[in-house]
Amino acid sequence: MARTGSKNINAKLVLLGDMGTGKTSLVLRFIKGQFFDYQESTIGAAFFTQVLSLNEATVKFDIWDTAGQERYHSLAPMYYRGAAAAVVVYDISSIDSFIRAKKWVQELQRQGNPNLVMVLVANKADLESKREVENEEGEKYAQENGLFFIETSAKTAQNVNELFYEIAKRLAKAS
Ligand code: GDP
Ligand code: MG
Repeated sequence: MARTGSKNINAKLVLLGDMGTGKTSLVLRFIKGQFFDYQESTIGAAFFTQVLSLNEATVKFDIWDTAGQERYHSLAPMYYRGAAAAVVVYDISSIDSFIRAKKWVQELQRQGNPNLVMVLVANKADLESKREVENEEGEKYAQENGLFFIETSAKTAQNVNELFYEIAKRLAKAS
């Protein structure tokens, strides 16, 4: 429940990024606190809600996950419409997914919403031995493009709650 005097925010959050980067896994880690090693990329598609309570606000997230449409490297306009936050995910063990993440960021920028809270997520941080994208590369790109940057692992839960709390804080500040 919201504390007296605190704001109630309802925010649509969309996930972007190539197939296999761990978008669905991040959402399931956040919402269910679980990780699944094998996941059908077509399962999901989905729509999840989760509430986060901060001191200054209660944020109800409507989370839009893809059903594999990202395979075609573009998403329907309705997917983005009305989004308050967008999370672009790449996999640190795949340079291709990082290159593609930049394309997803460009697609977001084309939506032309200056108030959109944008985050670049470097997922699978547990795969250090297979790393193809240095932390600094992600950080630098994010900084140049006005995105918040964070490295996560849906597998170990590293920084997953932090990711969503940071978004909630930014939404609360902006509202
Ligand atoms: P999506 O296509 O972007 O939704 O990706 P999924 O969430 O379906 O994940 C694709 C595969 O990567 C699955 O086998 C997951 O178990 C695995 N995966 C997701 N996140 C991580 C992670 O942080 N670390 C590791 N090692 N594997 C992950
Ligand atoms: Mg998925």
